[in-house]
Amino acid sequence: MTALSDYDVIIVGGGPAGLAAGLYTARMDLKAVLLDRGPLGGQLLNTELVEDYPGFESILGADLATKMGEHARKFGLEVRDFDPVQEIDVEGSTKVVRLESGEALRSPALIMAAGGLPRYLGVPGEKEFWGRGVSYCAVCDGAFFKGQELAVVGGGDAAIEEGEFLTRYASMVHVIHRRDQFRAQPILLDRAKANQKMKFILDSQVQEIVGDQKVRSIRYEKHGVTKNLPIGGVFIFIGFVPNSKLLKVHVDHDEAGYLLTDRNMQTSVEGIWAVGDVRAQLTKQIATAVGDGTTAAVAASAYVAALKDAARK
Ligand code: NAP
Repeated sequence: MTALSDYDVIIVGGGPAGLAAGLYTARMDLKAVLLDRGPLGGQLLNTELVEDYPGFESILGADLATKMGEHARKFGLEVRDFDPVQEIDVEGSTKVVRLESGEALRSPALIMAAGGLPRYLGVPGEKEFWGRGVSYCAVCDGAFFKGQELAVVGGGDAAIEEGEFLTRYASMVHVIHRRDQFRAQPILLDRAKANQKMKFILDSQVQEIVGDQKVRSIRYEKHGVTKNLPIGGVFIFIGFVPNSKLLKVHVDHDEAGYLLTDRNMQTSVEGIWAVGDVRAQLTKQIATAVGDGTTAAVAASAYVAALKDAARK
């Protein structure tokens, strides 16, 4: 810890990326704190069953979140859950994290692990059937729908690409898009249109996701007529909003707001690393988030050690 700091490292966000960073920083004997606006776990808490995290053939998302939290705490990580961050700023080389409580925390190193949220459709049935047929992640949940008909909502790259991925499992994937033109790249669209297991429903607004214990159908309106399509699941891909706006200092990002990093997870601002779903990268998986967090923790540790060495000279 340097003279003007409360901590060596502040980690913002308590999903798998932040918890992995927390575990490693604590184990490397740094004075670290992890902040989360809610309970620990991030998107794990919105995942019913995890079947693609190595070492766990099948585990509830909430149970994996608990295990990750306990594991990081065991090595001395200070965890402040239910303590929302209002904004993150930089004063000289010091990172300043202002909390909604009015408190401000300072550190030389900051790991941004605040994730993001899928954009929601906001129709009846969406929240009610989340985890029981409504999903925002094809890689995570596609295998639960073997042999079933599925709906994908959206018209961008994600809807088309993830929809095509789902045809590995589904007997048919119906892509429902609100306009008569797709936003997705032509190369993705051409491939999807050639896929015998994909159908496209254009000019259609989803009105409701219908079910009992699980999803049974999707209701949509096309040219003033309401239609009901029987399906076993609905995958919604209408965008993802990364929580990068907490940063008041400019950090390089792509057009969707994902933070850009080098291979060490270092952003364009010295002493700020970005990991997990808030970072621009190929995929949003638990395993990649954990890898990001580990890399950032090791890089942040070296950075803090160099600062301490320089201060001693
Ligand atoms: P996106 O490009 O913003 O597309 C979102 C889609 O959802 C649009 O078709 C939009 O319709 C629709 N939509 C938005 N709000 C809606 C609502 N309330 N109801 C119904 N439909 C709604 O998002 P994305 O597909 O997640 O992609 C995000 C970024 O990642 C993009 O830059 C994309 O290129 C990139 N990406 C790239 C790849 C790849 O290169 N392989 C794969 C995935 C994502 P409208 O078209 O009518 O606006």
